[in-house]
Amino acid sequence: MRHALTADQANFKAEVEGFLATALPREIATRIKRGAGINKEDLGAWTKQLNQKGWAAPNWPEAYGGTGWNLMQRHIFDVACRQAHAPVLSGFGLNMVGPAIIEYGTDAQKQEFLPKIRNADLWFCQGYSEPQAGSDLASVRTRADRKGDDYVVNGQKIWTSGAEDADWIFCLVRTNHDVQQQKGISFLLLDMTSPGVQVEPLIAFNGKRLWNQVFFDEVRVPVEQRLGDEDHGWTVAKSLLGDERLLVSRVAENKRILSIIKELVVLQGDRGIELPGSLLNEINALDVRLRALEMTSLRILTQADAGGKIGAEPSMLKLKGSELVQAQDEVLFRIIDHLALPLDTKNTNRTPVEPAFAEYVASGQYHHRGFTIAGGSSEVQHNIIAKQVLGL
Ligand SMILES: Cc1cc2nc3c(=O)[nH]c(=O)nc-3n(C[C@H](O)[C@H](O)[C@H](O)COP(=O)(O)OP(=O)(O)OC[C@H]3O[C@@H](n4cnc5c(N)ncnc54)[C@H](O)[C@@H]3O)c2cc1C
Repeated sequence: MRHALTADQANFKAEVEGFLATALPREIATRIKRGAGINKEDLGAWTKQLNQKGWAAPNWPEAYGGTGWNLMQRHIFDVACRQAHAPVLSGFGLNMVGPAIIEYGTDAQKQEFLPKIRNADLWFCQGYSEPQAGSDLASVRTRADRKGDDYVVNGQKIWTSGAEDADWIFCLVRTNHDVQQQKGISFLLLDMTSPGVQVEPLIAFNGKRLWNQVFFDEVRVPVEQRLGDEDHGWTVAKSLLGDERLLVSRVAENKRILSIIKELVVLQGDRGIELPGSLLNEINALDVRLRALEMTSLRILTQADAGGKIGAEPSMLKLKGSELVQAQDEVLFRIIDHLALPLDTKNTNRTPVEPAFAEYVASGQYHHRGFTIAGGSSEVQHNIIAKQVLGL
């Protein structure tokens, strides 16, 4: 099966690739390729550069500084960025709360937040999960009690990625205890510097500060910082992902990893290391899986762009995409072999491992394990598919 780009799409792809070739700082691309990640400052600088070009918010309407691109264009842009090893922009503002503010925000909220989010002048994090509310998100307990013109917020969020760098947090809070769970939730925008907010790190098993716990103790939040109507935060929360849900296949990330795998096979060959035929067969099989995923994804995006109805497709794409990343990680690990072990610099005079990006393979693999859970766990996706596709 083939899914050829139209002439316009091919021109668009060439334009994006041309821009990336000149604009993306080489040092940043090298760090990303190695899996070393980048700091907030560099990510902010790259976001500003894209914003200047008008490309920081591909999914926002043009009236708010977005690109007005359709899903296929966004997919092409995404793939080109990942292939060039450009950093992934922080999605909490640009992909999540930004579009929600566009849909539900007051004029004052739009004016205050949207330009700052687009230019990385203001960073958001996401306060949904709680110790007793993950997959079953509607059972959030953090409470916001109305006192005059403020809400007073008490409770705890957990697994909050990026809270250490965030200026604001968007939160689901309970404002009504007497109605069905989903109907008593409100959506608040909360300044992280407010008195009573405390952030504590949670360290992942790759040693990185991947998440945080955020505690709220009598935090006062002005009522005008609520997004949408009181008790209707569930509607805002559900809208948050919008058609972004269709870009969850991780095709771009999978292509990036596969290109690194192929580069490594050549590098290992150059070093005289012969990889077993069975491993090479596995790499071919990964290639086939990726092509199938990409074809399926492009077919669904094209349908959606033409106004087609979307059902359980995002669940299928999320499931297959995250499983493929993890399968590729395992092969990557086996190609790198012992070089993926952390270097004990105290007891060796060995220079850092070669090839250079072996150093972060293990850490990347651990990080990608989280894809099974983040954004809706695999079991929950299976449930959706079972219900909506199989009618079980
Ligand atoms: C890398 C990463 C980043 C994250 N970042 C954020 C963030 O920034 N902000 C935020 O709010 N949250 C974040 N989360 C949290 C994430 O949203 C939750 O972990 C997720 O919703 C699952 O909730 P839980 O951890 O409480 O697990 P639970 O919901 O308790 O699930 C535990 C296990 O039970 C299974 N399970 C649950 N319900 C069902 C069911 N109905 N049928 C079958 N199996 C079921 C799950 O699949 C899972 O295996 C992040 C998570 C990860 C991994």
